[in-house]
Amino acid sequence: NCKNADDVLKAVKEYDVSFIQFWFVDVLGVLKSFQVTPSELEGAFEEGMGFDGSSIEGFCRIQESDMVAFPDPTTFQLVAWRPTEKPVARMFCDIKNPDGTPYEGDSRYALKRMTEKAAEKGYAFYVGPELEFFLFPNERETTLLDRGGYFDAPPLDLGNDVRRDIIFALNKMGIVVEYSHHEVAPSQHEIDLRYQEAVKMADTAVTYRVIVKETARKHGCYATFMPKPLFGQNGSGMHVHQSLFKNGKNVFFDPKGEYNLSEECRHYIAGLLKHAPEITAICNQWVNSYKRLVPGYEAPVYVAWARRNRSSLIRVPMYKPGKEAATRIELRSPDPACNPYLAFAVMLAAGLKGIEEKYELPAPVEEDIFEMNEAERAKYGIESLPGSLNEAIEAMEKSEVVKEALGEHIFNKFIENKKMEWDAYRTQVTEYEIKKYLPLL
Ligand code: GLU
Ligand code: MG
Ligand code: MG
Repeated sequence: NCKNADDVLKAVKEYDVSFIQFWFVDVLGVLKSFQVTPSELEGAFEEGMGFDGSSIEGFCRIQESDMVAFPDPTTFQLVAWRPTEKPVARMFCDIKNPDGTPYEGDSRYALKRMTEKAAEKGYAFYVGPELEFFLFPNERETTLLDRGGYFDAPPLDLGNDVRRDIIFALNKMGIVVEYSHHEVAPSQHEIDLRYQEAVKMADTAVTYRVIVKETARKHGCYATFMPKPLFGQNGSGMHVHQSLFKNGKNVFFDPKGEYNLSEECRHYIAGLLKHAPEITAICNQWVNSYKRLVPGYEAPVYVAWARRNRSSLIRVPMYKPGKEAATRIELRSPDPACNPYLAFAVMLAAGLKGIEEKYELPAPVEEDIFEMNEAERAKYGIESLPGSLNEAIEAMEKSEVVKEALGEHIFNKFIENKKMEWDAYRTQVTEYEIKKYLPLL
């Protein structure tokens, strides 16, 4: 565990590291990487490494394309999927302008800015995401590799060897795993990570996705975080457990509150609920994401909270009632194909807004909302999440909270990118349409 540049330089010598990968993500959360040799490292810490940002999605225009990557020494780790002899290491980078100011298109910076804003109020933001994924034979077909379901053990679960190696690789890179299991859908799996401070966890989520994919590849199969690869089956979510700590104390916990939740926590939930439609484009950023957010598959559709209802957007897990550190809320809408930096930033922004403005929390809805009709939902005042990427973009475009959380640059670039995606999609003629309309019309 390195604390500074000197520690990294020492470790590189000690482990005979051959290459150091410099990591960052584009505006969609896609990992970008370039390698430097050990001889370049000292200079890189001092002056950064220059690169052309104009070819990175959501970065800049050609006229202003010089960017500088500064490696964060605290993120130095040997990468687990490369040879142990002459190993390869990686560090996450902060992206800066040539004049040394932070680059506003850098997602990691956006999350840092948001968590610093929380820190000014004394809050540390902790998150625990559950990233689900499918295993398929390759990236062209969705043939099932097993017929297992929730918590199934072998022989129904055929992913356990892959999961085992994923967990070993995660551990090797200092990432603590709490649970792993077969998920509800066939060929679907989940590995849950111990909660961490948000910036670290966003780095971890990016690393997790690489490790899952690389490990699957070594086992001759393909892992995907696509939100809804199979029609008629559960999709893959990324539930995010969240809590705020102040002076080492969990401010969501109040032993006297309903469900042990504090007033601050109630306002935080209210903030998430109120701004849920606005943050959905960030938490569910693909056309395919909205095929998951439909009734009947344990994914949320309606804006409500509950103690245990799995059809609701926010749930209050109480596995260890009365235990301070375990008190948290779970936002169930995000999917694992999001940009985790931006997703954590907008969640925090929505929740903090609720605390700042002391939003009133509506009553929990413990009934199964999927069973209600429109009139019943209206009676409870239950709204819906955006039904498509297009609706989500429209909701985001009007959002001051999201604009402030991401900064204008990312806000605009993201919307521009997603409008293009929607346009490309809506003109497609799908197999569904051919099957349905050709014989009929
Ligand atoms: N796969 C479900 C989803 O799309 C979640 C299942 C669960 O872990 O409760 O969110
Ligand atoms: Mg799950
Ligand atoms: Mg969950």
